[in-house]
Amino acid sequence: MKTKDIMARLQAKYPGENEYLQAVQEVLESIEDVYNQHPEFERAKIVERMVEPDRIFTFRVTWVDDRGEVQTNTGYRVQFNSAIGPYKGGLRFHRAVSPSMLKFLGFEQTFKNALTTLPMGGAKGGSDFDPAGKSNEEIMRFCQAFMLELWNCIGPDQDIPAGDVGVGGREIGYLYGMYKKLARQYNTGVLTGKGATWGGSILRPEATGFGALYFTHYLLEKAGKDLKNCKIAVSGFGNVAWGAATKATELGAKVVTISGPDGYIYDPAGISGEKIDYMLELRASGNDVCQPYAEEFPEATFYEGKKPWEVKCDIALPCATQNELNGDDADMLMANKTLCVAEVSNMGCTAEAVDKFIAAGQLFAPGKAVNAGGVATSGLEMTQNAIRLSWSAKEVDEKLHYIMHSIHEQCVKYGKTDDGYVNYVKGANIAGFMKVANAMMAQGIV
Ligand code: GLU
Repeated sequence: MKTKDIMARLQAKYPGENEYLQAVQEVLESIEDVYNQHPEFERAKIVERMVEPDRIFTFRVTWVDDRGEVQTNTGYRVQFNSAIGPYKGGLRFHRAVSPSMLKFLGFEQTFKNALTTLPMGGAKGGSDFDPAGKSNEEIMRFCQAFMLELWNCIGPDQDIPAGDVGVGGREIGYLYGMYKKLARQYNTGVLTGKGATWGGSILRPEATGFGALYFTHYLLEKAGKDLKNCKIAVSGFGNVAWGAATKATELGAKVVTISGPDGYIYDPAGISGEKIDYMLELRASGNDVCQPYAEEFPEATFYEGKKPWEVKCDIALPCATQNELNGDDADMLMANKTLCVAEVSNMGCTAEAVDKFIAAGQLFAPGKAVNAGGVATSGLEMTQNAIRLSWSAKEVDEKLHYIMHSIHEQCVKYGKTDDGYVNYVKGANIAGFMKVANAMMAQGIV
């Protein structure tokens, strides 16, 4: 297998699907050597099969807004790979959602889910619906219209959607309510991220951020460093950034930034306590701006149109969206002697930034390892739904710890280089790939 040849074919077939092509290229470059040591993979065309989703559902979603006007959006579900379990992955509601974006996310999800140690295949879905500025009723009507098309494609043993950007507990509730009405199936396991009193797992809302901090702890520990007293730059102010800020503060670190599409907030006093709660209020306002933080807490400063990577920090945690940290940002972070960069968003760093980090021996870990605690806890939610029991916060947290530790170990196993540097990108990609490839081999040419 030659990455160059496969990429040339994919570029010709899917011109302009840049995020998808970027995600595939990164994985293929990581696995090329290992792959070529397995002629049986080549004979079974594992890579050619793995880079194509099993299927994509595309549908029109029509709903009526508060002014009585008819609105039309496009909905998707990309069922990427089911080699190690039923399709599993979130739904993203964002104006920029496209087939390319969901294919990249579904592809990443396949490897991420393989790393969690749980039996889950990879999927992603969503819509170009823009939740910004929508009323609660509009959100509900949209979710109901979306489920009207999706319900037939999903099920607890088939495909289990969850939240992602623009989809949180409220949206999962509306989607679940409509699913039951249409499918007349009352199995809670069809969606994850549900409320704790109706089938949800305790700690699921916090899990992506908590898991990311556990992973960062292992990352630093392996390098002989400690999280305590570290200054952390976080981007975003959604559910993931909130969970990360909560756990970072609990572990004795200080989070000094959050950001939105409008710019970033620098709060030298640290974003903790009521300020973390305020992030939830900001999110709930639905306006997708972080500037009001600086009005609420005058000791903080708002930097319009800028990204938080210019702030001198010990740890950088991109928690917002794909390609939010580019080559120039990487240079800036390294010039400021940042100890580690842990990608919490999916593909948060551009390929150029990742290449720079690896070439410089910078401690860096990719999203599919760092943020896997979210989907892993979704997997734990599915288990609780299947056995019709709820675990305590302690039980879930212990399992999450164990999973993040195991992901870190897998990355080290496959990513360790001769000079002792751990290439976590390579480690995560090879570990995930080997698990999915071996399962595909065992299940024949299908
Ligand atoms: N959207 C999250 C992710 O990117 C969670 C998916 C899930 O819980 O299924 O992994």
